[in-house]
Amino acid sequence: MDLNHRPLACEASALTTELTAPNYLYSILSNPRCKGQDALYGKRHHCYHIGDITQGVKLSIAKQLYILQGIDLDLETKGERLRIVEAQLSDSRVLLKIRAEVEKKQQQLAELQREQRAAEWEIDDIQARITQTEEKLYGGSLRNPKDLLNLEKEIKGYRGQLRNKEDALLEIMSQVEAIQQEIAEKSERARQLEEEWHRKQQQLIGEQAELNAGLAIGKRQRDELAATIDPASLQLYEALRVRKQGQAVAKVAQGRCQGCHLTLTVDELQQARMEELVQCSNCDRILCQI
Ligand SMILES: [Zn+2]
Repeated sequence: MDLNHRPLACEASALTTELTAPNYLYSILSNPRCKGQDALYGKRHHCYHIGDITQGVKLSIAKQLYILQGIDLDLETKGERLRIVEAQLSDSRVLLKIRAEVEKKQQQLAELQREQRAAEWEIDDIQARITQTEEKLYGGSLRNPKDLLNLEKEIKGYRGQLRNKEDALLEIMSQVEAIQQEIAEKSERARQLEEEWHRKQQQLIGEQAELNAGLAIGKRQRDELAATIDPASLQLYEALRVRKQGQAVAKVAQGRCQGCHLTLTVDELQQARMEELVQCSNCDRILCQI
């Protein structure tokens, strides 16, 4: 059966979908075109069950390599995404940063509270001294005007100290209030970030599992397909893949190589049409006539 002319509606043409679908389909035309647009494109492109190919349905080497390239590019994309996902999975820097900020503010608060208690004790102390001195002053036991004057001066001095200490205490208390407010806000932010982080981690874990499964399937499919291709062609493909950033095979469209977009010679076009393994004389890519 000539698969090139088999009118097959594409059920799952995007390669990512194909790799996880029960019946693997590979489109050798551009994948995004036909996704979900079977009615429009179903008859215009050709899909192949991977099983058809591995079970002996003959496709040209160029087409097999083109399909292989699709799998390879997909594996590469998935592998790259997996690396990003795994890096994000172990990244909790944002959380650590906000937790450290909260901790620092809590230390500052504890220090201020110590200062506050010390100021309160000093105030109690001064007040006690004032009471004591006033008792002496008004107790009636002292008669000497000079002694009485000295006591009055002493009390005045204590009252001055008391005012200063009370001002300092008020200042500390307002700082305590401000820092408590900051801690409350930062703690709330930390809580939200933690929630977000856990949610994101769950997503990433799910994505990681999906990618790993997709990669395993893709690698198996790649091996199966590669096993049907002769070693020399495979070697050529691998070498070009390295040199051409993964694009070793180029489609032929409107007489041009879609790799370098230059017009092909009559010979090249004919060879591609005859499904011979031919490379573009300009960019060296393997030409695939679809
Ligand atoms: Zn070219």
